[in-house]
Amino acid sequence: MNYSKKNVRDVDVKGKKVLLRCDFNVPQDKATRAITDDRRIRAALPTIRYLLENGAAVIACSHLGKPKGEVKPELTLAPVAERLGELLGQEIIFAKDVVGPDAQAKAAALKAGELLLLENTRFEKGEEKNDPAFSRALADMAELFVSDAFGTVHRAHASTAGVAEYLPAVSGFLIEKELEIMGKALEAPARPFAAVLGGAKVSDKIPVIENLLDKADIIIIGGGMAYTFMKAMGYEVGSSLLEEDKIGFALDMLRRAREKGVKLLTPADNVVGSAFAPDCERKTVDTGCIPAGWMGMDIGPKTIAMYSEAIKGAGTVIWNGPMGVFEFDAFAEGTRAMARAMAESGAVTIVGGGDSAAAVEQLGFADKMTHISTGGGASLEFLEGKALPGVVCLLDK
Ligand code: ADP
Ligand code: MG
Repeated sequence: MNYSKKNVRDVDVKGKKVLLRCDFNVPQDKATRAITDDRRIRAALPTIRYLLENGAAVIACSHLGKPKGEVKPELTLAPVAERLGELLGQEIIFAKDVVGPDAQAKAAALKAGELLLLENTRFEKGEEKNDPAFSRALADMAELFVSDAFGTVHRAHASTAGVAEYLPAVSGFLIEKELEIMGKALEAPARPFAAVLGGAKVSDKIPVIENLLDKADIIIIGGGMAYTFMKAMGYEVGSSLLEEDKIGFALDMLRRAREKGVKLLTPADNVVGSAFAPDCERKTVDTGCIPAGWMGMDIGPKTIAMYSEAIKGAGTVIWNGPMGVFEFDAFAEGTRAMARAMAESGAVTIVGGGDSAAAVEQLGFADKMTHISTGGGASLEFLEGKALPGVVCLLDK
């Protein structure tokens, strides 16, 4: 995939009607529908402000939840319009439909410096089907498409990709940053390039491991999937998470790493628990010494020292997947130590994946990373090296 895409600064937006795809899929209180976390709305402000200040008339749109092509009043974007207006300090015009008569009339009357928010795009059946007629109707209201919803770029929907068939399309600042930092890391990383891979299952991460094996100098394995690798190396793993049917894959990866000269590191020791519970009995044992009935829940201190050393010397570190069951305090140390090592290294540090981003925030290292990718599924597909429809559709630089 070509990561070098035009952004809002590369085109003239003055006097143009701009369709802006945002990610306003915010968490809400079930009963009151009050927005419980407005970070996604705040994150959209720089692009919105840039467009408004540079003389565009902005027609913003987003999905919210899963109304599946039906109008679900509880999933209206009205609360988003209200919060956006407060944050922007400007009155927002809100359309009662997506491409219906209200949206069309308000879009036609929209002036430079004004912002119109359309209703939930997934109220329309054509959205998730990427229906050309719906894409066309969206496009007809505007002269330029700006895509800034990174969380949905892996989906080929009408408002994320389809609309670009009918309008020149560029990125906003959020997607620009994702492409610049993650794209560069995958294409021309500062070396040595280390990938820290963990999480629960090998099977979730096969395409990520395969893609990064071709690009990284060092691959650091932790989390639940480490036990399938250990088993492949001939060690007993007790009751640890094990995917028997992926032992062959792990062996193949170990062999390919050797052939390519990629350093593939696996845990030397482990913190094991007597049960999958926050308050279970625990002890630290070397790899190969996990007693029957015990399960590996975190990497141990020797492993932490070895992995931290590797991270310290890296030029780029990409991290996907926690090193242990960080949700339980007793097994969060490995994940915390990796976050610390990354924060203290001089490397370009990138965190991708929903749980990994949550772990880094929860452990207090968020502001010490170069970049935390905002899209869970999208950042994973990015790391897999997949072509993302919402990126492919943008104009090349
Ligand atoms: P991401 O969302 O960042 O891609 P994953 O979803 O792959 O990450 O993995 C996150 C989950 O992996 C966490 O819920 C964590 O508890 C779990 N995990 C980490 N280590 C282990 C382990 N040793 N055994 C079982 N689960 C683990
Ligand atoms: Mg996850």
